[in-house]
This record gives sequence, C-alpha cells and structure tokens, in this order.
Amino acid sequence: MQINQRQLELVNDRIKALVASDSFYGKKLKEAGITSVSSAEEFTKLPFSEKSDLRDAYPLGLMTAPEEDIVRIHSSSGTTGKPVIIPYTRKDVDDWAVMFARCYETAGITKKDRIQITPGYGLWTAGIGFQNGCEKLGAMAVPMGPGNTDKQLQMMEDLKTTVLCSTSSYALLLAEEIAKRGIKDKIHLKKGVIGSERWSKKMRDRISEELGIELYDIYGLTEIYGPGIGINCEYNTGMHYWDDFIYLEIIDPVTGENLPDGETGEIVITTLVKEGAPLIRYRTHDLSRIIPGKCACGREYPRIDTIMGRTDDMMKIKGVNVFPAQIEEILGTFPEISSEYQIRISHLDGKDTMRIYVETSGNYDFNDVARRIAEKVKGSIGFTPIVKVVEIGVLPRSMKKTARVIDERYEE
Ligand code: ZN
Repeated sequence: MQINQRQLELVNDRIKALVASDSFYGKKLKEAGITSVSSAEEFTKLPFSEKSDLRDAYPLGLMTAPEEDIVRIHSSSGTTGKPVIIPYTRKDVDDWAVMFARCYETAGITKKDRIQITPGYGLWTAGIGFQNGCEKLGAMAVPMGPGNTDKQLQMMEDLKTTVLCSTSSYALLLAEEIAKRGIKDKIHLKKGVIGSERWSKKMRDRISEELGIELYDIYGLTEIYGPGIGINCEYNTGMHYWDDFIYLEIIDPVTGENLPDGETGEIVITTLVKEGAPLIRYRTHDLSRIIPGKCACGREYPRIDTIMGRTDDMMKIKGVNVFPAQIEEILGTFPEISSEYQIRISHLDGKDTMRIYVETSGNYDFNDVARRIAEKVKGSIGFTPIVKVVEIGVLPRSMKKTARVIDERYEE
C-alpha cells in the first residue's frame, strides 16, 4: 500500500521537526542529507530505524519536542542491555487514547461496559494504554494490573465486568481457573481484548469457548505509542490499523524491499503525527501481511493479518528455516492435544534436535499421538522432531508471555 499525498505531507512535517530538534534521528537525517521527501518512490529509499538505534539514544536522545512539552516517558522492557525510553507530549498521550478508544469501539465496546484491565501499569505501555483508552471512550475501568487471581475473579464477579483486557496466557489461566472453581454462571464477561503476543487459533478457540466471549486482538508496541494502533473488527478478517496516525509497510526482512500487498514480511511503521519521539520507517521485526481489499464491515481503515511471529523467531534446524508458527499450525490439526506446547532445540552428537512437548488426556495413546505428530512435521517441514506427550496441565502457564521456544544450543 503506497504512501498517499496526505501521509507524505505529514512525514515531511515530522522530518522537519526531527532535523530542527537536533535529536538522535534529527542528526542522522541531517548527516544523510535528508531534509524532505517528495514522492512515494523516494519514501521507500529513506533509511530504516531499528531498536538498536533507540538503545543508543538512551536515555533521552529521541526527544524531539522541547522538554517543557514532554509530559511522560515509557520504556520498553529490553531483555538484554539498555532499555529504550520513549518521550510523549500531551498530544501524543491524547492521540494514543483516541486510537485506543477507536479500538474499543471497533470491538463493539461502549460507555456502558466495565473493563477489567490486567496488563501491568508502570514504565511499560500496556496497562496505562488500556486505561486511557477506556476513559476516553467513557467506559468504567477496573484497573487491576497483573496477578492475584483470587482478587481478579472476585472483582470480575462483584463488579460484573463485561470486558477482560489481558495477554492470551493470562486469559487462558483465568478461563481454566473459572472452570475449575465452577463459577462460570457468576461471570458476566462478553468480550476479551487480548494483546502483546502471538497466539494460536486453538488457544483462541479454547479461551473463547471456556469463557463464552468474543475475542479481539489488539496490536501495538511501545516504540509506536503502545498497544492500540490496530484491532480486529466483528468480521475477524485481520486487524484494522489507524492510517491517519501511522503509515505501515511490509518489507522482505532480508533484502529490505517493499513487498506487494498480501505477501508476508516484516512490519515497518512510520509515525505521522508523533511529537515526542517521531519514528521514520521503524522495523518492528513482527511478521504479518497487508490484507488486500475492503473489509465487509465497511470501515476504510486498512488491515494487517494476525501477527505470525518475529523475524528473529526464525529457527535454523538441520539447515531448514522454521518459524514456530509453522509448528503451531501443524499442532492445531490435532484435536486430541491442548493448546499448550513447548519446543526445545538442542545440539546432540553434532546434530540439531527438536523436541516438541504437547499435552493430552488419558483418553489417548500417548505413543500413537507422538508418532503421528512427528510424521506430520516430517511431511510438511522436512525433519523428524522428537515428540513428547504429557498430561494436560503439566506444561507451564504464565501471567505474562509464555516462552514456547527454548533454544538450548546457545545456552551454557
Ligand atoms: Zn472490518
């Protein structure tokens, strides 16, 4: 999807602000001799920005608006090295709330809803984003933050919460807990807004069935406001994203070339109106595709598909490139196993091995299930994994992101 004239004007405005501010990216643009961009073609030649740049700008090098206009910072959780700090102006905070309220509306959530927010509040963008969007919409926020499942369920019952905001792992944990305690008839949830990690169709179906709710995927990342830049509508054909605030491209993660609509590649985002820390062509490392054509809901906002993983999730096993999503898709065709799985890769006697752990109940022959899964992986990906079948409930569940792929080849 080519950048349009209006979006180009906004990009030029951001370039001007960056250069004038002498911020980290302002200097970079100046050094590269870039002061404006005149066409869609020229736009695709602009240099990318990367998370590693953002780290180099630590702590406040990205600040592009005058300090007196900065009202808040957020930080993305870096597992390695320095974190990334993103400064926000009053307008940035408001724009984010407008986008988030639009997400809730797209999910059919109204002022009359009661929204229980379980993502964390603090330096990272999750909880506070859900909260500001809720208040902008005019719904009632129940700001729980993560953890304390007893209290979560009690508030859910007593306040008759209608919307649950959480990660998919935590939604599953709550769903299982509600089933275990036999309190489903006391729960009034209608919808779930689920963010921040890739999840399988199987897991989605399971949460949706157990809780009897409609689920919506929300997209976003701290570097680009936070969650709330896109969500699926009632037709569930990908996530609409807000192209009046961001311009989104899909590129080949290896060559950096733009890919035609419909092809899967890496999401690259340009912020069109952000003041505190504008980003031009930011590489998200998230894999998806632009869904061509118009949605049946009639909304004009373009769509991207569900996030299929990260470019850096790609595993090389016995010389074959594999994405966890491929394994997950295969596992999804086995109704006898649960939605939880774990992949472990190690190096044994000079050879890469992959072990896949899955869960089933005593109603199935564990050995037979393992054999059929191994055969199917061999048939569609080209190598034979070792499949281990365990009882349902044995694999780890977590409140945050569940680590499903563990590569032991790079551990001590
Ligand atoms: Zn739609």
